[in-house]
Amino acid sequence: MEKAISSDGGYGNIFVISAPSGVGKSTLIRLLLESVPLLHFSISHTTRPRRAAEQDGRDYFFVERDKFESMIAADKFVEWANVHGNLYGTSRGHLEEVRKAGPDVILDVDVQGQEQVKKKLPEAITVFILPPSFGELKTRLLSRGSESDQVIQSRLEQAGEEIARWKDYDYLVVNDELHRAFEQLRAIVLATRARRGAVQSKAEKILNTFGG
Ligand code: ADP
Ligand code: 5GP
Repeated sequence: MEKAISSDGGYGNIFVISAPSGVGKSTLIRLLLESVPLLHFSISHTTRPRRAAEQDGRDYFFVERDKFESMIAADKFVEWANVHGNLYGTSRGHLEEVRKAGPDVILDVDVQGQEQVKKKLPEAITVFILPPSFGELKTRLLSRGSESDQVIQSRLEQAGEEIARWKDYDYLVVNDELHRAFEQLRAIVLATRARRGAVQSKAEKILNTFGG
């Protein structure tokens, strides 16, 4: 099963994007998906309650804890973690489908998920999104208005621990000004597509037209 989702099958790139809650990761990912062709989002499973603006099967697959635990027992996840008291995971079946539709895929996972993905899929490109400051992160979480004060407090307390893991990532993007951060994220995706390994077979075909 692991082999089916390795890079051997000629699939494209996997981008793992992490950020503390409220930094603007979902906003940035949405902009990226709208502007970059052939890039797909891996929809995670979660036991977290659905927010008013979210749709099941678009933002997450919202499932009961029993169902999530039975999926863990059946080894249905590439990675999963307990984040802020709820379970989140990337299902193997779904990831495989998205990679086939791909070629490039975005995984939105926390720092624990990033660590697990990197072990199983070392070719994954990892990006951490930072807030400009603690104060700005607090403002954004409050302005989103989707969590209670208690949940916001707990997310803020964990943000520092998550940010302390920045060294584990290949790229760091500070989400200060939205458009600037979006352009930087887009540049990472586009530059990855131009890496030698990704363009090798095309280069060989071009060379063949020269009779080489
Ligand atoms: P996350 O997915 O990281 O939890 P969201 O994308 O839901 O965060 O963004 C949290 C809030 O911050 C939203 O209200 C969003 O509109 C706002 N936001 C996102 N990026 C910026 C930015 N660069 N400047 C100001 N506000 C932002
Ligand atoms: P939220 O509840 O704000 O949507 O997400 C909370 C945290 O869970 C974020 O850090 C997000 O990246 C993380 N998360 C979302 N999906 C997954 C997943 O499938 N696996 C892991 N490990 N974390 C996830």
